[in-house]
Amino acid sequence: MAEALSCDYCGKGIEDTPEENAWHGVTPYPGDMPNTGMCLACGGDPEARTTRKRMGWALVSFVDARIPIIRDALSSANRASFEKMTYEQKANVVTRMVARGVIV
Ligand SMILES: [Zn+2]
Repeated sequence: MAEALSCDYCGKGIEDTPEENAWHGVTPYPGDMPNTGMCLACGGDPEARTTRKRMGWALVSFVDARIPIIRDALSSANRASFEKMTYEQKANVVTRMVARGVIV
Protein backbone atom coordinates (compact mmCIF):
# COMPACT_ATOMS: atom_id res chain seq x y z
CA MET A 1 0.00 0.00 0.00
CA ALA A 2 1.28 3.46 -0.94
CA GLU A 3 2.32 5.95 1.72
CA ALA A 4 0.29 9.13 2.18
CA LEU A 5 2.49 12.17 1.59
CA SER A 6 1.92 15.88 1.27
CA CYS A 7 3.36 17.97 -1.55
CA ASP A 8 6.42 19.94 -0.42
CA TYR A 9 5.29 22.98 -2.46
CA CYS A 10 1.51 23.22 -2.24
CA GLY A 11 0.71 20.83 0.63
CA LYS A 12 -1.73 18.73 -1.39
CA GLY A 13 -2.20 15.19 -0.10
CA ILE A 14 -0.75 12.62 -2.49
CA GLU A 15 0.14 8.96 -2.51
CA ASP A 16 3.66 7.70 -3.08
CA THR A 17 2.97 6.34 -6.54
CA PRO A 18 4.45 7.30 -9.94
CA GLU A 19 1.03 8.75 -10.88
CA GLU A 20 0.91 11.18 -7.96
CA ASN A 21 4.42 11.74 -6.62
CA ALA A 22 6.98 13.29 -9.01
CA TRP A 23 9.72 12.20 -6.59
CA HIS A 24 8.55 8.56 -6.49
CA GLY A 25 11.59 6.27 -6.57
CA VAL A 26 14.11 9.15 -6.73
CA THR A 27 17.34 8.50 -4.81
CA PRO A 28 18.58 10.23 -2.82
CA TYR A 29 15.03 11.21 -1.99
CA PRO A 30 14.68 15.03 -2.33
CA GLY A 31 12.10 15.40 0.44
CA ASP A 32 11.60 14.55 4.05
CA MET A 33 11.10 10.83 3.38
CA PRO A 34 8.16 9.76 5.50
CA ASN A 35 6.10 12.93 4.98
CA THR A 36 6.72 14.89 1.84
CA GLY A 37 6.47 14.37 -1.88
CA MET A 38 5.97 16.49 -4.96
CA CYS A 39 2.62 16.48 -6.71
CA LEU A 40 2.71 16.42 -10.51
CA ALA A 41 1.18 19.91 -10.74
CA CYS A 42 4.23 21.28 -8.90
CA GLY A 43 6.90 18.80 -9.94
CA GLY A 44 5.89 18.37 -13.56
CA ASP A 45 3.86 15.76 -15.41
CA PRO A 46 5.68 14.17 -18.37
CA GLU A 47 2.31 13.19 -19.86
CA ALA A 48 0.82 16.71 -19.78
CA ARG A 49 -0.11 18.43 -23.05
CA THR A 50 1.33 21.86 -22.33
CA THR A 51 4.98 22.75 -21.76
CA ARG A 52 4.25 24.51 -18.48
CA LYS A 53 2.35 21.53 -17.10
CA ARG A 54 5.13 19.17 -18.18
CA MET A 55 7.67 21.37 -16.38
CA GLY A 56 5.56 21.76 -13.26
CA TRP A 57 4.72 24.80 -11.21
CA ALA A 58 7.96 24.90 -9.22
CA LEU A 59 10.19 25.02 -12.30
CA VAL A 60 7.84 27.37 -14.19
CA SER A 61 7.98 29.94 -11.39
CA PHE A 62 11.78 29.56 -11.23
CA VAL A 63 12.04 30.19 -14.99
CA ASP A 64 9.43 32.99 -15.08
CA ALA A 65 11.30 34.93 -12.40
CA ARG A 66 14.51 34.83 -14.44
CA ILE A 67 13.32 35.42 -18.03
CA PRO A 68 13.08 39.24 -17.52
CA ILE A 69 16.56 39.30 -15.91
CA ILE A 70 18.09 37.53 -18.90
CA ARG A 71 16.12 39.63 -21.40
CA ASP A 72 17.41 42.84 -19.79
CA ALA A 73 21.00 41.60 -19.78
CA LEU A 74 21.07 40.74 -23.49
CA SER A 75 22.27 42.99 -26.31
CA SER A 76 19.42 44.15 -28.55
CA ALA A 77 20.33 41.65 -31.30
CA ASN A 78 20.43 38.74 -28.86
CA ARG A 79 17.26 39.98 -27.18
CA ALA A 80 15.41 39.86 -30.52
CA SER A 81 16.36 36.21 -31.05
CA PHE A 82 15.54 35.38 -27.42
CA GLU A 83 12.05 36.85 -27.88
CA LYS A 84 11.47 34.55 -30.88
CA MET A 85 12.17 31.41 -28.85
CA THR A 86 9.43 29.13 -27.60
CA TYR A 87 8.81 29.03 -23.87
CA GLU A 88 10.61 25.68 -23.71
CA GLN A 89 13.72 27.13 -25.40
CA LYS A 90 13.71 30.14 -23.06
CA ALA A 91 13.46 27.75 -20.13
CA ASN A 92 16.51 25.90 -21.46
CA VAL A 93 18.45 29.16 -21.69
CA VAL A 94 17.49 30.00 -18.09
CA THR A 95 18.49 26.61 -16.70
CA ARG A 96 21.79 26.66 -18.66
CA MET A 97 22.66 30.13 -17.36
CA VAL A 98 21.88 29.09 -13.81
CA ALA A 99 23.98 25.92 -14.22
CA ARG A 100 26.90 28.01 -15.51
CA GLY A 101 26.57 30.43 -12.61
CA VAL A 102 25.79 33.41 -14.88
CA ILE A 103 22.63 34.10 -12.87
CA VAL A 104 21.24 32.62 -9.67
ZN1 LIG B 1 1.98 20.46 -5.23
